Amino acid sequence: MGQATHLSRAALMFLSRREGLKEVATGVPALRRIARRFIAGETLEEAVSAVKELNARGLTVSFDHLNEAVRNADETLDEVREYQRLLARIDQLGVRGNVSLKLTQCGLLLDPELALRNAREVVADAKRRGSFVRVDMEQGEVTQATLDVVRALHREFGEPHVGAVLQSYLHRTEADARALCAERIRIRLCKGAYLEGPGIAFQDKKDVDENYLRVMRILLDSGLYHGIATHDERMIQETLAYARKKGLPPGAFEFQMLYGIRRDLQERLVAEGHPVRVYVPYGKHWYPYFMRRLAERPANVWFVMKNLVKG
Ligand code: FAD
Repeated sequence: MGQATHLSRAALMFLSRREGLKEVATGVPALRRIARRFIAGETLEEAVSAVKELNARGLTVSFDHLNEAVRNADETLDEVREYQRLLARIDQLGVRGNVSLKLTQCGLLLDPELALRNAREVVADAKRRGSFVRVDMEQGEVTQATLDVVRALHREFGEPHVGAVLQSYLHRTEADARALCAERIRIRLCKGAYLEGPGIAFQDKKDVDENYLRVMRILLDSGLYHGIATHDERMIQETLAYARKKGLPPGAFEFQMLYGIRRDLQERLVAEGHPVRVYVPYGKHWYPYFMRRLAERPANVWFVMKNLVKG
């Protein structure tokens, strides 16, 4: 990564954590409109209508109710209720989709026991409805605690109602992938969206990508149903080539992409017969998610500036 890109990423990630800015940004109508490129709406019903359209185009989804770093116990209970409403709506409408959940939205930074209790409620509901909960992975300070909770839930509810996410920028990920596969836990593999130091994470894109491919091969060798989450065409082509070499049929794993990013690629893969799931975030607390999307790609900052100037 170039020095300038690294600095602008660091600045955007710093801004993504400013509570005061979050309040201001989410109140600016022009920014809310721009954020809609990446966010399906602020309400569940807006997300449902976006998802119906994705389903009609052959894509499955994972809904994400946006919120993170929640430090108020009552608010974590509201999150559980929102996920229960969401799972009920998916069931009622027969939407092809599951849910993604963050443990810091369930109170992980406040009390790990509370986060486990809250996540357990959501997974129990998903199991009753024959659905699945993907536990998103967040910043490095919570990697171990997150995997501990996923393991506890997996032991309690069994396969296939809860899954983990691993980030290829972390040095530990190859070992985590081997261990989780041995425990039959489904994994979403992504590159990683937070800013992590050299003590725990690869700093060069080349190393992150190499690790992505190394871990992808571990996942495809495991015989479990995993998610290959990336918009990087090289990662996708290498995955397809490895699957062909191993003689895996289409449907042995799925590709996953984010709402609003590379729709062309999503549709191309579906047309070629590969399952593709789109991650569909919605809700009022879109600011940190939106900032991470900007940090990933400097061109997105220009997209925002241009649209703000246009008004
Ligand atoms: P990159 O090398 O970053 O990008 C490859 C190409 O994709 C770019 O050239 C560009 O064309 C396109 N692209 C990538 N990002 C953008 C963008 N923001 N705007 C426009 N175009 C873009 N990260 C976590 O840390 N934890 C998670 O739980 C998590 N869940 C995810 C779930 C899904 C379904 C996906 C797809 C990603 C998730 N991520 C998560 C984010 C991920 O870690 C990366 O930050 C993000 O996907 C960008 O990496 P990339 O693999 O697309 O590769």
